Amino acid sequence: MNEILTDVFNGSFTQQEAIPKAGIDAALAVLNHGRLHRYNTSGDEIAEAALLEEEFASITGAKYCLAVASGGYAMTTALRACGVGHGDKVLTNAFTLAPVPGAIAAVGATPIFVGVTQDLVIDFDDLAAKFSQASVLLLSHMRGHICDMNALMVLCNAAKVTVIEDCAHTMGAHWNGTPSGRWGRFGCYSTQTYKHINSGEGGLLISDDADGMARAIMLSGSYMLFERHRAAPPPEMFAQIKYETPNISGRMDNLRAAILRPQLVDLQTQCSRWNALYRSMEAGLCDTPGLQLIVRPANEGFVASSFQFLLLDWPPAAVQDVIARCRLRGVELKWFGGEEPVGFTSRYDSWHYAPSAKMPKSDRILAGIIDMRLPLTFSKEDCTQITRIISSEVGSVWKNQISDKS
Ligand SMILES: *Cc1c(COP(=O)(O)O)cnc(C)c1O
Repeated sequence: MNEILTDVFNGSFTQQEAIPKAGIDAALAVLNHGRLHRYNTSGDEIAEAALLEEEFASITGAKYCLAVASGGYAMTTALRACGVGHGDKVLTNAFTLAPVPGAIAAVGATPIFVGVTQDLVIDFDDLAAKFSQASVLLLSHMRGHICDMNALMVLCNAAKVTVIEDCAHTMGAHWNGTPSGRWGRFGCYSTQTYKHINSGEGGLLISDDADGMARAIMLSGSYMLFERHRAAPPPEMFAQIKYETPNISGRMDNLRAAILRPQLVDLQTQCSRWNALYRSMEAGLCDTPGLQLIVRPANEGFVASSFQFLLLDWPPAAVQDVIARCRLRGVELKWFGGEEPVGFTSRYDSWHYAPSAKMPKSDRILAGIIDMRLPLTFSKEDCTQITRIISSEVGSVWKNQISDKS
């Protein structure tokens, strides 16, 4: 009891780091000159948005990059540029966040949900069984878990299914040395506050596909100023596309781009810091009875801005008990198994606009997934305290409610 009263975590699970000084200075420079719109440049000035695109293309090795208003907008633009529209079906992960099926619905298409494995990646058997229903897969690297991308691309190429990657949780990550976002026709990123670089809202889209990127640039609202883009296909690519493509404005502005550019410089350092926190979480929880860690394959170069573990086959009441006990001690855990969508933890069956057949194998996994944010304002000592709290609460619920009864 004493321990419960005194060992309480006081940190905030939603507090990110401040914008670095270089980002603040760059933002002030934009505010001072007032040219916030990406096409509002003076003389031979190059817009911050165009520079950001060039720099992100270079970091990822992509030929082309487009900065947009949000991660959700990046996904709808990629879908539209691939020709997805009203009445089409799009394969996507059952384990993902609401903006992913939302992007599919936004273009008038219907999501077909594909199951999740115990490693929290897309289930290849379920995917293969559903290939005949769609010609595009919007693959969500949910919570930074990357499936075997070599194997996935072989499967999708053989089935002639186009892959679009949702990299909201994998900026800076790779599979087998190739960056996440570079496997599919498009890679979509978010620069919203809870992602790996922070401009409040924002998104990035990368591709090597000249036709697709020309369409994406027109879609984003380029007012025929596509020649001002630098990480873009040559002007000839726009010859027909500029007449055929509607303007659906969703550009990024120079203020956000200015805030992001210095953060890109720090990205690898930040990724290492996240992973150091992740490893201390793993170390602190590895011997907890009833709790399973997620196996991370050697080829997965992940970036752990969040942490997941499984309470597999636990009764819902016991999971809720763990979450309530941890909350009393300042540790905020989220549960993907809850009946009602709360915060970001919704399940595929809470999206009633996209009805799906039940997936019992995936339901079993989803019912056990516990999720925690890992902001860089946490120290390793914070992680040690957090794991001590989780471990003791999981341990006592396990001992009193589960192990006795099994
Ligand atoms: C945040 C997020 C997105 C979309 O990002 P927004 O910028 O909020 O539109 C897409 N997919 C996943 C998995 C996300 O977490």
